[in-house]
Amino acid sequence: MNEKRHPYAWRTQMRTWLPWFLIDLGIAAKGEDCEKSNATHRWYHIDTVFSGCYHCKVEREGKLWKAVHDKADTRYPHLETRT
Ligand SMILES: [Zn+2]
Repeated sequence: MNEKRHPYAWRTQMRTWLPWFLIDLGIAAKGEDCEKSNATHRWYHIDTVFSGCYHCKVEREGKLWKAVHDKADTRYPHLETRT
């Protein structure tokens, strides 16, 4: 899906523009769940175990962000790469 048409993308963008206190008030809070809006998550690296979504509050176990950063994994984003 085109990032510009993502239903929560504007709020993600807002968080880069707004001062933190407005974000804290919930003005640009994260969406509930991208998939509920028929959109895709955009993962980032939280720690060695969890991945979080830039657009919504969903956090999942696994290196989901790897599929974005590592081209070799894009075909099998659900699989770990063992070296
Ligand atoms: Zn999401």
